[in-house]
Amino acid sequence: MSVALDGPAGVGNSIFAKKKEKRMNLIYIDTGAMYRAMALFLIRSGVGAYNSMGISLESQRAEISLTYENGEMVVWLNGEDVTGLIRTEEVGNMASKSSVNADVRKKLVSLQQNMAAEADVIMDGRDIGTCVLPNADIKVYLTADSFVRATRRFEELTAKGIACDIGKIEEDIIERDYRDMHRELNPLKQAEDAVVVDSSYMSIEEVVETISEMIAKKKNGEA
Ligand code: C5P
Repeated sequence: MSVALDGPAGVGNSIFAKKKEKRMNLIYIDTGAMYRAMALFLIRSGVGAYNSMGISLESQRAEISLTYENGEMVVWLNGEDVTGLIRTEEVGNMASKSSVNADVRKKLVSLQQNMAAEADVIMDGRDIGTCVLPNADIKVYLTADSFVRATRRFEELTAKGIACDIGKIEEDIIERDYRDMHRELNPLKQAEDAVVVDSSYMSIEEVVETISEMIAKKKNGEA
């Protein structure tokens, strides 16, 4: 079973990333975390965000993998646990820029396809239904209003004691959406056979329930 979950920044992972999806019996793969780990590697390497040749070369030295410990996703970069280091705005902005690079995408897409071949997954990203898993059993385009997403992110950061400005967060979100939707390679768009779920006014439980129902129907041969 494979579920492709696509949508703009800060929807899926704010709902799922914190725990392994036990209710759905699927492994949740946050592909954004892989682009973020790559971005962290590139920042550390000192490659400029717009140096595409440098990014193409450097990216080949980054070994990225995801594991699960007690149901929590752990992100590895060349043997180092970087889970706690990739959620900053700096890394997010670099990820948004470096993810336009063809060599970065090729490397991570093939890694993601291998992961999906080995387990039942719900894979969250921008290009999963359109590119990584075009034959996914279920495709969901999960979206939410940019202000709602900024509020969720603001609350997450504030809870961690990080000072931030909600207006700036929303501005960044809108800019990243634009870049994701307008890039040349694998832009964010709704797959033709995807079901749209607008989570703006839904609770986490309601979103999980909606997707769980789709999976149950698929398993029962009703959809
Ligand atoms: O989902 P998240 O915001 O953590 O992703 C970080 C960046 O990685 C996004 O802004 C997007 O540009 C990129 N990304 C991508 N393709 C994916 C997942 C994420 O290009 N499948």
